[in-house]
Amino acid sequence: MWNEIKSNITSALVYFREFILFLILVVLTIFLLVDNTSLSIPLIFLLLVVGIIILNLIGRRRIKEINEIKEIISSIRQNKFESSTEIFLSKYLDKLENEIKQMFEKTKSDIEYLERLQKMRSQFLANVSHELRTPIFAIQGYIETLLNGALNDPKVNKHFLEKAEHHTVNLSNLLNDLIDISMIESGEMRMSYRYFDISDFIKNIVNEFSLIAEEKNIQIIFNPPNTGLQVFGDKERLRQVFVNLIQNAIKYTDEGNVEILLEEEKKSVNINVIDTGIGIPQEDIDRIFERFYRVDKARSKAVGGTGLGLAIVKHIIDAHSSKIIVESVYGKGSRFSFKLKK
Ligand code: ADP
Repeated sequence: MWNEIKSNITSALVYFREFILFLILVVLTIFLLVDNTSLSIPLIFLLLVVGIIILNLIGRRRIKEINEIKEIISSIRQNKFESSTEIFLSKYLDKLENEIKQMFEKTKSDIEYLERLQKMRSQFLANVSHELRTPIFAIQGYIETLLNGALNDPKVNKHFLEKAEHHTVNLSNLLNDLIDISMIESGEMRMSYRYFDISDFIKNIVNEFSLIAEEKNIQIIFNPPNTGLQVFGDKERLRQVFVNLIQNAIKYTDEGNVEILLEEEKKSVNINVIDTGIGIPQEDIDRIFERFYRVDKARSKAVGGTGLGLAIVKHIIDAHSSKIIVESVYGKGSRFSFKLKK
């Protein structure tokens, strides 16, 4: 009992200065109003006792509130709450209760975000290791077979060397895409925007692909709307976008054509890469921009795909404050489009 009163009063002593000021004021008032000294002394004594009782009550309340807050903080620390609705403080602490609830929600969402990020990182690392293993094992296999005697067999030696070379090209493509994606995602890729002639730019890229398209008997159609049509963007990065989209269009088309269509609008140019290829099933369309997501794994790998091309394309188009849109009919063909500012 005495100990409790002692700790209550100690706790209330933070208001000691205010308490003394109050006492002085009341004592002065008593002296002013009561002339009789024999009456004023017991009055001051009574006042002191009442003051100590009040100090005790204030201290008790303060300790109760501090304990309440301590308990909530320690429960949060021990992960005892699932949601902020389980956090309660007494009526007079409602503002503090709200602040604690908001802090709890923020910390919870930060932790969830970090966990998701960690999971994505591990998944990415697992995917990278898996993707690297395939070409490295294949190259190792061919070299071993050659060293074990196939080198002197004219029927297979050239074929094995060509296969090994094919896998080194895949490996190098994968490493280049990995460097690009990590630079983009870490924010290290500097963009350099300027105006350039989009028709000339596409014509050059189309020329680079004419041989590959011819080999597959695919026609590339590009009819520029007018020469001198200028768009605003990072030429080098956009080159990567066009190369990826046209390469994919050729890779995933067995017969027909690939068309690059420019539609001039008031403030922008709508760019479409259209093919008459295998198309993408509806349920896969939203996922093809994910890293390493492939609709047909075997086909992608057979044609040297890294599974990172569209992820890179999306990042670059996003950086141009634009959006890449895909429309596709499975078995009929696909259309990838995005706008660039004029
Ligand atoms: P990849 O290196 O495998 O081509 P991408 O990121 O470029 O990787 O594309 C992801 C997947 O999207 C591809 O594996 C393929 O299944 C699908 N895809 C991309 N472009 C086309 C297209 N023009 N036609 C059909 N499928 C496509």
